[in-house]
Amino acid sequence: MVDQKRVAAAVAELLAAIGEDLGREGLANTPQKVAESYAELFKGVGIDAATALDETYPAENSAVVVMTGIDAISMCEHHLLPFTAKVDIAYLPGARIVGLGRLPKLVDLLASRPQIQERLTAQIADAIETSLAAKAVLVRVQAKHDCVAVRSLRQQDAKIVTLEARGLYLEEAARQEALNLISQ
Ligand code: ZN
Repeated sequence: MVDQKRVAAAVAELLAAIGEDLGREGLANTPQKVAESYAELFKGVGIDAATALDETYPAENSAVVVMTGIDAISMCEHHLLPFTAKVDIAYLPGARIVGLGRLPKLVDLLASRPQIQERLTAQIADAIETSLAAKAVLVRVQAKHDCVAVRSLRQQDAKIVTLEARGLYLEEAARQEALNLISQ
């Protein structure tokens, strides 16, 4: 749970530390507004990923489930600058499948904490593998990082791609097939 009062006090201190005039009209509501947006951006801190996958149904067959183009906004834990991502998921169900709306919920929960893209990708794959006992999971995250775009590197269009496989998708041919599916 984000302590908004404490965040607001810290933002006021931050503004003072960069030499700003806290009495300036334009900054009057800034600490509170930042606190509100941090409450949203960090709502996943301390929350177990399994809670996002709480709606499951018996799998009636073993067909692969694919969901692509899931939006994610996260904050890089090194610079506290946002990175925005598209997440593609393929999994082979075990005994149970999950309600489709739960996959974006899982992604959002895991993105809403100080993160790095590599860990976000792995945590999504791990949650699906363990919570659903999936036979295979492939997760691809393609992201643009503000810390790459606006700091000294100034790479506005650089895209970073991370890929995690679990279970049967650790095998090369099966993984390639799943990769083709999420790339369509
Ligand atoms: Zn960064």
